[in-house]
Amino acid sequence: MPLLTRMVGAPLAVDIGRGAVTGLAPLLADNRISSGGHVAVAVGPGQGEEIAAALQPHLTNALICPVQGGTVEAASGLAGRLREGFYDAVVGIGGGRTLDVAKHAASAVGLPMVAVATSLAHDGIASPVSSLEHDGRKGSYGVQMPIAVMVDLDYVRRSEPRMRRAGIGDVISNLSALADWRLAERERGEGVDGLAVTFARAAATSVLHRDDGIDDDAFLIALAEALVLSGLAMATAGSSRPCSGGEHEIVHAIDHLHPGTSTHGELAGLAGLFTSFLRGDRQLTGEIDACLARHGLPRAPADVGLTAEQFARAVFHAPATRPDRYTVLEHLALDEEGVIGHVHAYLDALGV
Ligand SMILES: [Zn+2]
Repeated sequence: MPLLTRMVGAPLAVDIGRGAVTGLAPLLADNRISSGGHVAVAVGPGQGEEIAAALQPHLTNALICPVQGGTVEAASGLAGRLREGFYDAVVGIGGGRTLDVAKHAASAVGLPMVAVATSLAHDGIASPVSSLEHDGRKGSYGVQMPIAVMVDLDYVRRSEPRMRRAGIGDVISNLSALADWRLAERERGEGVDGLAVTFARAAATSVLHRDDGIDDDAFLIALAEALVLSGLAMATAGSSRPCSGGEHEIVHAIDHLHPGTSTHGELAGLAGLFTSFLRGDRQLTGEIDACLARHGLPRAPADVGLTAEQFARAVFHAPATRPDRYTVLEHLALDEEGVIGHVHAYLDALGV
């Protein structure tokens, strides 16, 4: 029988649940990733260090590498250490920044990477993209997708509520990104990958209408699965397109103009709400707004400490952050005054 299907690169293992970390050493051995445990373990500050200490008796041949910050320099430093020895794999333990550093370094030296996530702040836990800072600017770098993803709810539950909540914004922003992809299909004949759309939309809708929250295991499992699905959507598309449209251009512009404003996921949710409003999609705007409000996520620029004018300026500059990505922002091609008008209309319409 002919195999008229395609292969999609995906992690060998995904383990989400309480105590997932205890399965790391057996996972490395069972999947023949590293039966001798010769791995480099990149750990972030805080919980990452705690997990590394708990793992040490099971991974006696591991080299523990503390990682500070989410920069290209940190990734290069880690890659340098990896080149000094011989390892079967890199294990990244920590939040999104640590995982992004570990992913980038592992790709640079051609080693497989296992992601152990301690927070659910954005969709980088299983994606083929690293978001890193270089000379004060954030950039997205294509990397190998993790070969295994573990999310230990015992640690996730202890992460800052803000870092659990933020992932909700990133996941539901897929709906804005998908609308932009369809717009680019209509306006520019851009190819849309239906399988990537399926993964990205399923991720967003699995979280959008839930009425439980970040203190419930069932919700955290759904959110972690949604973040993994978003990563699969990007791997399937071969780009961040299914999870990154005009709303992410706005996030990049805010990161550039006002560094440190808020977490990636919080900004993605807020910007996704705004771009849905810009598209005139009342139903989606209402659904995203209700979801953000339910989880106490930012809905207005003031919620992240920006004035309406600062936010409008970021929206105006957003298209320049990704020159070839066609979204509602490029479609409307608003001048600065036009943007300010839409931002005020948005604030009035949402009553925020
Ligand atoms: Zn994102």
